[in-house]
Amino acid sequence: MPRIFLPLEERPETIHIAGDKARYLINVLRSRMGDEIIVLDGKGFSYGAEITSIKNKELFARVNRVVPYDAESKAHITLVQGILKGEKMEFIIQKTTELGVNEIVPVTTERSQLRETRKAPRWRKIAEDASRQCGRTHVPKIHDLIPFREVLAPSSPYAQHLRESRGLLFWEEGGMSLTGAKDVLGVCRSLIISVGPEGGFTKGEARMAQSSGFLPISMGNRILRAETAAIAAAALVQYVWGDLDTGI
Ligand code: SAM
Repeated sequence: MPRIFLPLEERPETIHIAGDKARYLINVLRSRMGDEIIVLDGKGFSYGAEITSIKNKELFARVNRVVPYDAESKAHITLVQGILKGEKMEFIIQKTTELGVNEIVPVTTERSQLRETRKAPRWRKIAEDASRQCGRTHVPKIHDLIPFREVLAPSSPYAQHLRESRGLLFWEEGGMSLTGAKDVLGVCRSLIISVGPEGGFTKGEARMAQSSGFLPISMGNRILRAETAAIAAAALVQYVWGDLDTGI
């Protein structure tokens, strides 16, 4: 059934759909009056609705039920990702959204080749499309670009999140295995995973992360490309602490 994300007030009776969501339903999916759609608010609520009118490229749909559905993992995963050139960030955002990541914090690091970006709106659209396609009810939050050091600093806007989470620094220069980390950390409901840019983290950044409580994690002797490492890290953490090891 067609699914779209829309910011909604609590349990609407009628939903007005305009702009690119309306174009998607009308032009791409050829939706008609009487068709059923699912509208998600991106925060976990989803509603079944019947299209009651299509006029001037806008639709109205009457809500007829709440759709109890949850494809969200029990582990809240935040990916702190060294910003990458070209379309690699889009690739990471799409794949880690499918893998159930909840927040993505793009960071500049000492070896970053990029210092700024205007791609955040596009990244947010990619996260929403990937959530819609994989059946999620939540859209990962894509934060604004920030220096890695600021994330770790005591005055960090993420200070509380860091306090409430366990940090894993994926470090190609050596660290413990993930199963070793599971033995140390046990059950975790919130994890922050950090993956470096093309050139990796510097020793100074790795030391700063460790003194902020991050465990250095190795995924073996092969040096993975940053985009491969981000996807592997998200999958492995979701397997060890989340819902990838869940039979259905
Ligand atoms: N500094 C490296 C170099 O240029 O020789 C490569 C960095 S690697 C391309 C980018 C990031 O992927 C690293 O900062 C790390 O976070 C992650 N990574 C790659 N291979 C890894 C491994 N075997 N174990 C843990 N993390 C890895």
